[in-house]
Amino acid sequence: MKDFWLCLFGGWFGLHKFYRKDYKMGIIYLITVGLFCIGWIVDTITLFIKGIKGEDIEEYYRIKGEKAEEAKRQLKLQQEQALAARNERIQELEKKGVAYCPKYLSTSIQYVDRRKRLSIGRGIVGTAIAGPIGGAVGAMTSKKHYGYVKCLKCGHEWKL
Ligand SMILES: [Zn+2]
Repeated sequence: MKDFWLCLFGGWFGLHKFYRKDYKMGIIYLITVGLFCIGWIVDTITLFIKGIKGEDIEEYYRIKGEKAEEAKRQLKLQQEQALAARNERIQELEKKGVAYCPKYLSTSIQYVDRRKRLSIGRGIVGTAIAGPIGGAVGAMTSKKHYGYVKCLKCGHEWKL
């Protein structure tokens, strides 16, 4: 019943949260006066029921902490795998000598004539003509060629 008593008297400033080392929630309770008293009331009732049932709150926090740790580990693993996959793709593209967008490693790249961009009218005509074949041109864009290119996926422009 310890948690219940702590909450009943100190729940409005997060005492029961600080006691269980849940500092994040403790500070939130402290700032918001027990989540505008709603969290305080709900927690008091919940902890009273748990106390009556004799539920092990320490065990509850231990499992909660373990789950959070596991989720963190999974996320880190996913990020590492994504990075490894990206590096592998870069190596593959570099080996083939294919030009690619540095942002998402897209190979849908199109040459752009910087001078034409000054004329809006001609720019639209240029896009309309180049549009359908853009993808095919992009796939063939090789590092053997030089000039300004544009990524068709994200619009990033750079010089090859
Ligand atoms: Zn891109």
